[in-house]
This record gives sequence, C-alpha cells and structure tokens, in this order.
Amino acid sequence: MSAHDSERYGELISKLRDVHLLESTSELLSWDQETMMPPAAVDHRANQLALLASLAHERATAKELGDLLESLPENMLDACQDANLREARRSFARSTRLDAKLVSEIAETSSRAQHAWAAARQDSDFAQFQPWLEKMVKLMQLKADCLYEDDMGCAWDALAEEFEPGMRAQNLANLFAPLRTDLCKLLDDIRGSSRQIESTVTKIKLPISSQENMVRAISEQMGFDFNRGRLDRSAHPFCGGSHYADVRITTRFSGDNFLDALGSTMHEAGHGLYEQGLLAEHLGTPMGTAVSLGIHESQSRLWENQVGRSEAFWLWCHAQLPKFFGEAFSDFTAPDLYAASNRAEASLIRVEADESTYNLHIMIRFDLEMALIAGDLSPEDLPSAWNEAYCEYLDVEVPDDRQGCLQDVHWSCGLFGYFPTYTLGNLYAAQFYDQACQELGDLPTSFQNGEFHSLKTWLNEKVHAQGMRYSAGDLCREVTGRSLDSQGLIRYLRRKLEPLYGIPSLGVDSSPGD
Ligand code: ZN
Repeated sequence: MSAHDSERYGELISKLRDVHLLESTSELLSWDQETMMPPAAVDHRANQLALLASLAHERATAKELGDLLESLPENMLDACQDANLREARRSFARSTRLDAKLVSEIAETSSRAQHAWAAARQDSDFAQFQPWLEKMVKLMQLKADCLYEDDMGCAWDALAEEFEPGMRAQNLANLFAPLRTDLCKLLDDIRGSSRQIESTVTKIKLPISSQENMVRAISEQMGFDFNRGRLDRSAHPFCGGSHYADVRITTRFSGDNFLDALGSTMHEAGHGLYEQGLLAEHLGTPMGTAVSLGIHESQSRLWENQVGRSEAFWLWCHAQLPKFFGEAFSDFTAPDLYAASNRAEASLIRVEADESTYNLHIMIRFDLEMALIAGDLSPEDLPSAWNEAYCEYLDVEVPDDRQGCLQDVHWSCGLFGYFPTYTLGNLYAAQFYDQACQELGDLPTSFQNGEFHSLKTWLNEKVHAQGMRYSAGDLCREVTGRSLDSQGLIRYLRRKLEPLYGIPSLGVDSSPGD
C-alpha cells in the first residue's frame, strides 16, 4: 500500500470510529432507559436517541466517506484491512440505498405500532394491531425493494441481510426441512415415553438477593469480567453497553423460578463474553464487531444450553447451591436439577419453550413472515394461519391471539428477517461445541470442577477475536471444518434427551464426519 493509500486508510478508520462513538453512546442511553432511567424522562430520552441516530446516519452516509471507500484499492491490504474495507463498503452501500424519508417513516411507524401491539396483546385483540401490521408490511416491502441485490432470491433476503449477512431464505429452507422432521420425531418420542420429568424444582420460593448473588457468581465463573462489564435487572434481559471494556448485561428474577434467572443470566453472559472478547485494537471497525446475530446467539445459547443444561454443570452447580440458598434444595439431587432444566414439552409461547421445541416456533414465524413479505399471506389472515401452523408443527391449540400471533414484539417494530437467527444460533452453538469437545478433550470433567476457562479461551480465539474477518458461514467452516448443518443439534439433543426420557436410542450418537 502506498503512503498515500495508507494515509487514506487511516482516515477511513477514524471516520468509522466516529460513527461507532455516536452509536455506542446511543447504546448506553438505551441500556440506561431499560434499567435505571426514571419513567418521567422518557420523552427527553427519545429526543436524545433520535438526534444521536440521525447524527450517526449522517456520518455513516457522508459523501466524503463514500469517496474514501471508493478510492482505496482492494487486495493491497492485509486480511484485517481487507475485511474492514469490504464490510465498510457493504454497510455504506446499504445505508445510502435507503431513502431518508422511508427510514424516518419506518422509525415513526415502529414506535406507534409497538404501542398498538402492546394494547392489542393486552386485550388479546388482533383487530387493533392489524392496520399497523398492514402498514409495516408495506414499508418492509418498500425497504426490501431498495435493498434487493442481484444475488438474492426474494425480497425477504434483502431484509434478513441486515441481521445475518449472506444468509438466504433458500439456505434456511434447506437447513430447516430436515431439522423439522427430526425435531418432530424427537417430540413424538418424548410424548410417547412413559417417563416424564417433574417441574417441582421451579416452584421453590427463593429470596431475589440470594438468586442475584448466585447468578453473579456463575457469570464470574464463566469468565465474564466485571471490571469491564455490569449485571443489572430489566424486564426483558439483554446485552448492551458501548464497547469491549463496557459491556452491560441484564437479567430478571422471579420469586420461585430460579432456573429462569440462571438460564437468562448465562445466556446474556454468553453474549457478554463475545462483546468482551472483541479485540481492543479493532475498536469501532468491522474487525472489532460481531459477525452476525446468528453467531452472537450461538455464543449465548452455547453457555445457556450446552454448558448450563449439561449433567456435568449440574454436578458442580448443585454443590454450590447451599452457599446461596441454605437448605432450600436439600430434597433435590444433582440429577433432579439436571432433568428439571431439560424438561421438554410442546407449548404456545416461544420465549418459554425448551431447547428442542423452540426451533419449531421459529420455523412457524419464518414461514409466515416470508408469506407476508411475498404478499402470499394477507395480514388479516395472520391469526388463522398462525393457529393452523401451531396445530401442524406442535400439535397445540391456540386459545387466543395473546398466546398466539400477538406474543412477539418483533413485527411491530419492523424486525422481519430476524427470527431465524435464533435457530441459526442453536445450530452454530451445537457445531462449535462439538468442535470444542474434539479439540479440548474432556470438557464435562472440567465443568464438573467448575472450570470453564478453557472453553471461554477457545471461543475468544476461534470466534470473538475474528470480528467480521469472515462471513458467518465461512467462520463456521474455518472453526469446525464443515458447513453449517442441522445434524449437530439433533445429535446433541438426542444424546441428552433419550436417556432422560428413557427413549430407545436412534443411534445418532456418532461423532461428526462418521
Ligand atoms: Zn440472545
């Protein structure tokens, strides 16, 4: 790279970092809004966030930035610089293709539609939300028109690109078809089993302060660095903050369901480890940014499920309980708690679903939103299509819209193309964890001793430190030597649930590649 190019590359990085400063300031204000802010501050906070968003958008779409991106030569840079240039160009092209008027109309509709959705959900009355959904679907179709690229197969792809770059509806359909067959078979096996799992452990009343001490200790044991992060409470747990040295995770507590607080915290701490694992030297650039929502979700699910719902984890965790809860769990053995944390059952509500049925909830949303965006399903027919799909996929009857198509906030705020990233997270998690077990040896024995450091360090190196160097699909191939498939997840679920439910083995317990 010539001295001139090197200087221009330096200018590019400095401009990207300025945008990141604005965006990360917004993230901090959003965190504050969900955790600390007094209710009366809501209007002023909305103004603060709106101004910051428009300043960031202005800078991210500035002509000088576009000129710089165009003038820099490709393939004359090192791999990190190439990745930064490629991703900065991609993001610039997407931002500038969206009409400013459309962006502000989506933002405004989203805030009003969310209110309408909340009221409709409370009253379990889809009709109140329907006009807003109609408007939002039209806006999303316009957005997809602006963002559609030649290598995409349908309008939905253009929306999903924002969350999972490079993932197409067709790839997802190919992944989901065998996954659905295998999950339904597993669910049938569980339903047909004479052995069922008790849920009494989730009915023990425990002081919130003790639960908080416990989940804080577990996060620390996982390697979450409280010198570079915080754990607070919010109604809906999330991971936010501003950068690798200031990561804010939140959790929630209920008086009696300790497993919910534990699972939520391990999930968010998994997200937090990813953010803390991004490299300081790449701060504010694509190389210092998480690659996709699917990969982000793989980090949270891996800690929540592969670790937090494992037998070895419970052998260790069970021994820690008296420190926090005295005698409260004295009637339960480690295997009791392990079983309770793995109870599987078809249900109506996605966020309460267990590890295996969860993915069927996602497939339903994927089918329906594809049909909405393609214009094959009219918003007024959503409730009946939803209820039919729940019968077909999960064999459950939906009694009302509150427990049906009004349960999720996503579509009201224009998040179309987002849902599949949850299942992608589960698939990537299973595949990464398989690989970690092969490379690190006996992980369960480490977990049994409360030792999670080797897994955390492995994820730091293989996933977190890579930033956006690879696409999500390429990262999966780099780390595991294989393209993403659904077999890893099925193997993992069967290996665990067959013995717990006394199901005769299907014999899928072979290592990958066999
Ligand atoms: Zn998550």
